[in-house]
Amino acid sequence: MNRIPEEVITAVLSHTNIVDVVSKHVHLTKQGKYMRGLCPFHSEKTPSFTVTPEKQIFHCYGCGKGGGVFKFVMEIEGVSFPEAVRMLAEDAGIPVTWELRPRERDEHAEEKQQLYSAHEIASRWFHHVLMSTEQGRPALEYLRSRGFSDKLISTFQIGYAPQMWDALTTFLQKREFALPLMEKGGLVAFHEERNQYYDRFRDRIMFPLHDEQGRIVGFAGRAIGDIQPKYLNTSETPIFHKSRLLYQFHEAKSTIRKNNQIVLFEGYVDLIKAWEAGVHNGVASMGTALTEEHVKLIRRYASRVVICYDGDDAGIEAAYKSLSLLERAGLAVNVVMLPDRMDPDEYITKYGGERFRHEVMHGAVSAVRFKLLYLKRSFSLHSEDGKLRYIRAALRIIAALRSPVEREYYLKDLAEEYNFSLDTLKQELYALLRSSQKLPPIGDNIGKPWNNGMNNRREEVTRPALRPAYYNAERNLLAAMLQDAEIAQLVQERLGDAFNVEAHAALAAYIYRYYTEYDTLEMPSFLVTLQDDELERLATSLSMEDAAAVMNERALEDHISQIKKAPMQQAIEYKKEQLQRAERSGDVATAVQIAEEIITLEKKLKDMQL
Ligand SMILES: [Zn+2]
Repeated sequence: MNRIPEEVITAVLSHTNIVDVVSKHVHLTKQGKYMRGLCPFHSEKTPSFTVTPEKQIFHCYGCGKGGGVFKFVMEIEGVSFPEAVRMLAEDAGIPVTWELRPRERDEHAEEKQQLYSAHEIASRWFHHVLMSTEQGRPALEYLRSRGFSDKLISTFQIGYAPQMWDALTTFLQKREFALPLMEKGGLVAFHEERNQYYDRFRDRIMFPLHDEQGRIVGFAGRAIGDIQPKYLNTSETPIFHKSRLLYQFHEAKSTIRKNNQIVLFEGYVDLIKAWEAGVHNGVASMGTALTEEHVKLIRRYASRVVICYDGDDAGIEAAYKSLSLLERAGLAVNVVMLPDRMDPDEYITKYGGERFRHEVMHGAVSAVRFKLLYLKRSFSLHSEDGKLRYIRAALRIIAALRSPVEREYYLKDLAEEYNFSLDTLKQELYALLRSSQKLPPIGDNIGKPWNNGMNNRREEVTRPALRPAYYNAERNLLAAMLQDAEIAQLVQERLGDAFNVEAHAALAAYIYRYYTEYDTLEMPSFLVTLQDDELERLATSLSMEDAAAVMNERALEDHISQIKKAPMQQAIEYKKEQLQRAERSGDVATAVQIAEEIITLEKKLKDMQL
């Protein structure tokens, strides 16, 4: 499982106290056997973030984050598991001698270091040329005319690459940077015929691009004159990966985490203007559509995303694509709709930052609303036929919603807008739902595999009260299993993997396996075996429940039987709904048939020997 030897992990765990580690970031106060503080992962006024020294775990009742000490470091520092182990090992004075995987081993560390310094030094030089030289003056005038204050220019370290062939080349050469390496890093280019290196960026306004850690790894160069291309960015280099880089992420990440929200822009100028308008949780993808890697990065910091792209057709298309990608990753998305095909920069310039923040940002529409608006564009709504086709397509979007309340909300809208009766639309919707859901929904299993990391965890955090009985039964069993090897064995024999919630079944499997090696379950080392965010949160929140200790034989039996009966009970519920619908529509034959099926199912349920 790990490339890091188990002894090392054990040693790090035994030399590390989670209270000390968390205390570097959170002010904790003691409350009984817990320590409490304000959660560093979401914004709150009353502390719901707890650390349990006895179990060496953290858990937030507000946002649901939780885990062991490695997870805490991974989340707060934004690093990988091996990196978190390394950091804690260093703190504990444990020598870091283990071999990393080839992928993680960095043969070119020295080269990269050179490239980082070259970029840093080049950036300072570009900035100097812009602010304090005659050559930079036109660029500076241009920026000022576009609404860039000097303060903004210095905050974003904007610079200017002069209209010369060898200015930066000479500058780097004097500082003994190897030019072939500088070419690899995208700062200079090589002219084959003349056999010499020359500046890659000429007569361009330069925006330094930072990686997550705040190191400059590339530049975006915008032409002032007529040179082509108008936008020239660093291409892939050993330190610059555009599919991973989000402009300004290093500065925005603390605000992103606090607000649990990130704002996505298409261009760096939009971002800078919005930043001045007070939107400090914004980032921009650099010259590329949003990628899976971007989304992964975003997910580590926030669960809500606002897309703020251009208001023209290309912007709307791009927003639609990004939206699908983000939603598939389980993120909650809103979309800003800018009027008159404007881009954010234009809007702010015309109406001011205040209005941008209040009207535009706060007026961002829900993902469904955006999809409906997007859909509308592709139908000609003047004809009756086009209208009908639009409504069918819209119903499909609405049918995909999980919440009946939400479905009703959008249905009403649709009915009003197109002067349809709500009942007619509802019937259409039911027909759609029937054809798309041949099986009754059981627990969390439908379309939500736990292990793709795409679960919508907010539901779990905010709506525990709506959970069916078997759900709590499963949680109670698991909580008890974490504390008691005998209970775990009993459940394994009686229930095995028959948990209705897939994440529960997965966690149970890990528990069974753990007990094959150890007699008692120690949370810190158990959590390390999980290597999965979702499961680690689940295990942590379960181990916070004291009720687990009072699991007697009777309760155990009740829980198991509840869990086993659940699928059939749900099937019956579903049939009953179908029956009602059939009766309402006067379809007697179907109603009779369904009623018979219900009786059969109920008999079966009764006969289940549990
Ligand atoms: Zn929290």
